[in-house]
Amino acid sequence: MSRHPPRPRRTTEIGEEIQCAKCKEFWPADDEFFFARPGGWRSWCKACCASDPKILASKARWLDRQRGAHG
Ligand SMILES: [Zn+2]
Repeated sequence: MSRHPPRPRRTTEIGEEIQCAKCKEFWPADDEFFFARPGGWRSWCKACCASDPKILASKARWLDRQRGAHG
């Protein structure tokens, strides 16, 4: 029994991705993209939690890689 509703997630060839509750983008379930919390991850991705240029750069890099991987 969980106090939290299940969050949207999907499994890709590179692993599991979870959806950010704010920007609605799917990101890897990874501490590069989400802050860990007991039992899982914060509902907002790092880029939505903080406007840290390093985090935003990491997000931009990820989107570039996604686009590149799919032509
Ligand atoms: Zn987000």
